[in-house]
Amino acid sequence: AIPLVVSIATERAARAGILVKDRMALERMRTVDTVLFDKTGTLTKGTPALLSVTAAVGPDADEALRYAAAAEAASEHPLARAIVSAAAERGLTVPVATDFRAVPGQGVRATVPDGAGSPHEVAVGGPGLLETTGRAPLDEAAWLAEQAGAGRTVLHVLVDAEPVAALALADEIRPESREAVAALGARGIDVVMITGDAEPVARAVAAELGITEVFAGVHPEHKSAKVRALQDRGAVVAMVGDGVNDAPALAQADVGIAIGAGTDVAIASAGVILASDDPRAVLSIIELSRAAYRKMK
Ligand code: ADP
Ligand code: MG
Repeated sequence: AIPLVVSIATERAARAGILVKDRMALERMRTVDTVLFDKTGTLTKGTPALLSVTAAVGPDADEALRYAAAAEAASEHPLARAIVSAAAERGLTVPVATDFRAVPGQGVRATVPDGAGSPHEVAVGGPGLLETTGRAPLDEAAWLAEQAGAGRTVLHVLVDAEPVAALALADEIRPESREAVAALGARGIDVVMITGDAEPVARAVAAELGITEVFAGVHPEHKSAKVRALQDRGAVVAMVGDGVNDAPALAQADVGIAIGAGTDVAIASAGVILASDDPRAVLSIIELSRAAYRKMK
């Protein structure tokens, strides 16, 4: 039978918008000393918006955006949705791409026709994608530094392997995130952030949240290895995430916590679900767990 204190804790959690799927997760939660938060969609809202397009070489900014939106049309990534929406908002006619390929952790590639119907190889992605092409970014160092300092994600648009434009996108930090980080820290719990996003963006967001330990530029396949690395140094880790990318890390963690608005895969891999999407609930579960199991001893 389920001990009464545990049922009570589970019920109190549910009233606070915390769904305990796995009772063992609730029990382990009291021993957690490190909380690893995914950035995009967990500490931030995960619905980025396109803020600026720059440095169009050859095609103008609208043409670069048309190419980018065409290549991103088949992608479900939040960055892709932002680019497609921005093109629609500007009333651009977006050509239909073929041969779409997603490059995990990097971006997308597709074949996109120009106005005359001639096909071009278009790639859209972060700094990692640019590196694989061996091409230098557009000569816009000041603009790039400004975007990075503001915590914006920069994506490069390449047409026939030639960088033609860069796009800056920003994702809002959830209003509750700063308080969540501070409250965990005040209880002596280490807070770490993990993201596939580039180092400067990650650093800017972390600084705003008061987080000092950051894993940036982490390839989707390597997120769970980062959890294991923390465990290897003795940490008991709760991982909080929302994305398909986060699922293996949620499973690897001592406690996997999914954001309610997250993907089905993340929710299936987690022992606890935050229906409220509120990162402050992580401390609430730790406290509920400690209170419940203290009474049992
Ligand atoms: P996370 O969810 O942790 O931020 P992802 O692995 O989804 O990380 O993405 C990491 C990086 O890969 C993004 O910051 C971006 O640079 C690039 N990327 C991923 N998907 C796309 C896409 N559809 N279009 C452009 N860039 C992308
Ligand atoms: Mg995410």
